[in-house]
Amino acid sequence: MPQQLPVLVQTPAHSQVGGTLSYLSEAALPAGTLVRVPLGRRETLGIVWDAAAPDQPDIEASRLRPVAAALAALAPLTPAWRQLVNFAASYYQRAAGEIALAALPPQLRELNSEQLARRLKRPPPVAGPAEPPASPVTLTDEQCAVLAQIDAQAGPFLLFGATGSGKTEVYLRCVQQLLEHDPEAQALVMVPEINLTPQLEERFAARFGAEVVVSLHSGMTNPQRLKSWLAAHSGAARIVLGTRMAVFASMPKLRLIVVDEEHDPSYKQQEGARYSARDLAVYRGKLENAKVILGSATPSLESWHHSRPAAEGGRYVRLLMPSRVGEQAQLPLVRRVDMNHQPKHAVFSPPLLEAIKARIAKGEQCMVFLNRRGYSPVLHCAECDWKSECPHCSAYRVFHKIDRTLRCHHCGYTERVPRACPGCGSPDIRPMGRGTEKLEEQLAELLADVRRPDGEPVRIVRIDADTTKLKGELEAQLAQVHSGEVDVLVGTQMIAKGHDFRRITLVAAVNPDNALFSSDFRAPERLFSLLMQAAGRAGRDAGLGAQSEMWVQTHHPTHPLYENLKKHDYPGFAAGQLQEREQAGLPPYSFQALVRAEARTQETAQAFLNAASALGSETAAELNVTLYPAVPMSVQRVANVERAQMLLESPSRAALQRFLAGWHDTLHAVRQGPEGKGLIRWAVDVDPLTI
Ligand code: ADP
Ligand code: ZN
Ligand code: ZN
Repeated sequence: MPQQLPVLVQTPAHSQVGGTLSYLSEAALPAGTLVRVPLGRRETLGIVWDAAAPDQPDIEASRLRPVAAALAALAPLTPAWRQLVNFAASYYQRAAGEIALAALPPQLRELNSEQLARRLKRPPPVAGPAEPPASPVTLTDEQCAVLAQIDAQAGPFLLFGATGSGKTEVYLRCVQQLLEHDPEAQALVMVPEINLTPQLEERFAARFGAEVVVSLHSGMTNPQRLKSWLAAHSGAARIVLGTRMAVFASMPKLRLIVVDEEHDPSYKQQEGARYSARDLAVYRGKLENAKVILGSATPSLESWHHSRPAAEGGRYVRLLMPSRVGEQAQLPLVRRVDMNHQPKHAVFSPPLLEAIKARIAKGEQCMVFLNRRGYSPVLHCAECDWKSECPHCSAYRVFHKIDRTLRCHHCGYTERVPRACPGCGSPDIRPMGRGTEKLEEQLAELLADVRRPDGEPVRIVRIDADTTKLKGELEAQLAQVHSGEVDVLVGTQMIAKGHDFRRITLVAAVNPDNALFSSDFRAPERLFSLLMQAAGRAGRDAGLGAQSEMWVQTHHPTHPLYENLKKHDYPGFAAGQLQEREQAGLPPYSFQALVRAEARTQETAQAFLNAASALGSETAAELNVTLYPAVPMSVQRVANVERAQMLLESPSRAALQRFLAGWHDTLHAVRQGPEGKGLIRWAVDVDPLTI
């Protein structure tokens, strides 16, 4: 007598089938088993799931289709993993099937059981722990103290350590202790960006042996991803390194999770299921009884707030490593240039330019960054005021000089630069403002007669999304910087993150002021973190002996953000920001969600949101959830689609969750009704990072 099995499959977002589908099976397959099942006319990968919710109607057994095959060679996914998926689905308002199937390596969908069995036959490389070689360094007192605390307490921990304080060494030791202690235990170490994984993988492989370390990130080929995933799932890999997607890695013996640079916005998925891998890591740690360490020199204000003293309600243990390792332990000197007293329109103030020249003459390296790629953000006609707007978006197209194109950074629409103004025919159209491409060009002019110690002209390299589109380009450019071939590195914030540049002694932020007065309440937090990270790039080589410097060109030199930066005072900055957030009732003192809607017209998008809001208003009031009116998004139109959003806010996370859970059906109903006519799509973003 075949039995009914609930199976999770990938369903389109927002299809009414949120949960599982029922299939028949002769064998009693345990929950977590991977299966192939018929779905419509195709066959698809599914996961036997835990019993369906009791209110789901039993379908007549005669209408059910049988499971096509079970991938019996694979151990079932663990209950904790399934619970993680269920939690993420309900918290972030998505279908469990979408999250679960996206977390599996794509190639698993294509393999049948025989092919899979063949792959698994290849014996996994040595399981048990190789005797880890003794660590080459003697720990600092701060590192010892932190490790003792991690050992003695349950966590979760927030490791607040200056750049270069030796946080990575702490992670390595924690992993080492774990592996020595428990012959099966696994550790997950996450970094925000794919670019940072090779460096880290090298360090972990050198310490523990390459055979027990695997990476998991979206830059890998499908066969590589499958291989890593299988190694993690089987327990052969003791250490998994990865980006945010790795939080869903199947690791049956997970005992330690590290989230490095935990403040980094890349941990939040920005499409589909908009989960925060950092927040899920904390949840998963609790679920699996694994220790969780979040590390940063500039923690997110949320994590900082959670790590306040327990007596004040803090839930994380705050660990401190304020000092840099090494003889040259001092942090760079921060110099603010008051641009109000510099020549008008100067991109590089004379003192900064002199400082850069002096560093080059001594054979040292400089890093200059600006938050905008391309040559200039807009092309402008002096005659008729025409600007290079994108015909499909409410945004300007950026002038890229190198291939003389106007490119929209929102929809990708690209055209050759017109010879004359499309508005009035005047040939006098000029770039307004500047991006990294123009910055590089100007710097090359300004430094044309400067010589390196070897008498050669200055070498400048630019690193941004435009110069690193092709695989391997970033690595090649970074290698140039490391080898000392490059004197000045120009780029976007991409270069300020994480990379360990040994010989850079001067870092300059050319024009960081925009973020000070942004309408996004998180902009100052991001700017401060970026500048601190950038400062951390300077002076990492103790051998150079020079006092390194971080230069900031600003029209607001006495702004508290820069005052705190000068003192390298993250706690001071955080205290000021948290006070402002508390007064304004913003996160972490409140909890937010956004509903976004897209349609051909702004009215349609807003009508949908406002209709759903009206239907939810009574419940919202009862739960103390505030529903704000629908408004256009800051870039209102992208690729001819109008975008609107609505903010939901509550002092209680639980209340907001309860409201969202109930409101979900309302949104679906409105979508089907007259107010949903013409709507293209809608989605909820819980704990949004940008508003
Ligand atoms: P962070 O991750 O905090 O920026 P790292 O762990 O990368 O810092 O350490 C910075 C540098 O100091 C690295 O080159 C690392 O090898 C070195 N280092 C770390 N701990 C020690 C130590 N106890 N003794 C000597 N060097 C150390
Ligand atoms: Zn014109
Ligand atoms: Zn566009």
